[in-house]
Amino acid sequence: MKYKAIFLDIDDTLLDYVPCCRAAFDASAGVLDEFEHRGRKIEGDELFQLFFDIAGRLFSEAKHGKYTIAEVMDLYPKEFCATAGYPPEAVEPFTHAFRQAWGETHALVPETKETLEALRDRGYRLFAASNSFGHLQRSRLQHAGILSFFEDTYISMDIGYDKPDIRFFEEALRRCGLQPSEVLMVGDSMTTDILGARAAGMDTCFFDRREGRGDILHLSELITKYNL
Ligand SMILES: [Mg+2]
Repeated sequence: MKYKAIFLDIDDTLLDYVPCCRAAFDASAGVLDEFEHRGRKIEGDELFQLFFDIAGRLFSEAKHGKYTIAEVMDLYPKEFCATAGYPPEAVEPFTHAFRQAWGETHALVPETKETLEALRDRGYRLFAASNSFGHLQRSRLQHAGILSFFEDTYISMDIGYDKPDIRFFEEALRRCGLQPSEVLMVGDSMTTDILGARAAGMDTCFFDRREGRGDILHLSELITKYNL
């Protein structure tokens, strides 16, 4: 076998980010009704879109080094509440409710379970490699029924560095005792997953299931395309 282990990003690689985000938002937005609102009241899809766009922009800026993931986790609920017309006191309860709901979101990307099973059956060591809170990502993998496939989970807030920082990958490799050449990194972000892992000396698989610009379009192609 060319590789001993596969590192897999979580969001939009194993778990479907948009439906997860919508489910957590729908479960937590009711908290905002307890607070006095100013200006035009935005609701429903429009309110979710506002939240999604603000979070998306800030996470994208984090990818390019403007913020850490930890900073963005605090910033986006603040900016969302302010923009939607809710007072500063709403931020903490909304953030708490959203994170709690987020930890239970578990929409799977198609072919995830089959692909993890196939990789496990072929003897690969599997590790999750994600930018987020460790306990929430593990909870989501557990709810999705796929946590047991992973020997360990490398999550940025546990590791101390965010992808694409080379130190994230170096620390993950140190923890599993492998050389960069022994690991294939699979992820949907060219910036954080692919360029980061390449800089650390790892081979990569760019999984772009939306636009087809990647190495694979469906997760199961990982097995055939890379002779795993
Ligand atoms: Mg991702």
